Amino acid sequence: MRIVLFGAPGSGKGTQAGILEKEFGAVHISTGDTLREAVVKGSAVGMQAKSYMDRGELVPDEVVIAIAKEKLASLGSNGFVLDGFPRTVAQAEALDAVLAELQKPLEAVINLSVDEEELVRRLSGRRVCPKCGEPYHVDSKPPTVADKCDLCGASLVQREDDKPDAIRNRLRVYQEQTAPVLEYYRRKGLLRDVEAKGGIDEITQRIKSLIGVR
Ligand code: AMP
Repeated sequence: MRIVLFGAPGSGKGTQAGILEKEFGAVHISTGDTLREAVVKGSAVGMQAKSYMDRGELVPDEVVIAIAKEKLASLGSNGFVLDGFPRTVAQAEALDAVLAELQKPLEAVINLSVDEEELVRRLSGRRVCPKCGEPYHVDSKPPTVADKCDLCGASLVQREDDKPDAIRNRLRVYQEQTAPVLEYYRRKGLLRDVEAKGGIDEITQRIKSLIGVR
């Protein structure tokens, strides 16, 4: 499996990528997760990225392209599910070049489409485990014990960029800088649209049938 999960913030890319990783062993590559880890560690990349991330702006292309290249180069014979990369046309072009070098061409770009009202609902209710990264939602996926991670017991947090001002900014940035990437992949014949409203399992089934796996 060699796919990109594409979509606005809150469209469910991370959730679906996690499921595909568990079921098919394709490596889930999330530039957002890698950047958040770098922020926690306080590395040079993390320090550079933090202010962009907190405001809901994109981190500069050269930073995220370097992260994606490193992750892709260490895959060995595994497949991959890219989540949150590419987010600009320059990133999509860089990705093409890396995958051509690795002889691992993309099979499909799955566009998870969700209306804006639903995106805001999902993002503002999202909670995440700061220790293991497990995602939750106050309405649709609450933890068993209030505010505690089901997997590791840590106290759940709200991401800084899931607060109202940052959400508005992220959706604007998506429209202005990321949505043009759709046209790039449509022209290459790789784009597959998935209606990403409904239950998590239902959406997984739609993705699987589009890429021809069960
Ligand atoms: P995500 O978890 O994918 O929503 O990413 C969280 C934040 O990390 C984004 O709002 C950006 O600030 C940054 N980020 C993640 N991936 C990228 C990317 N491909 N290009 C630029 N910034 C990114």
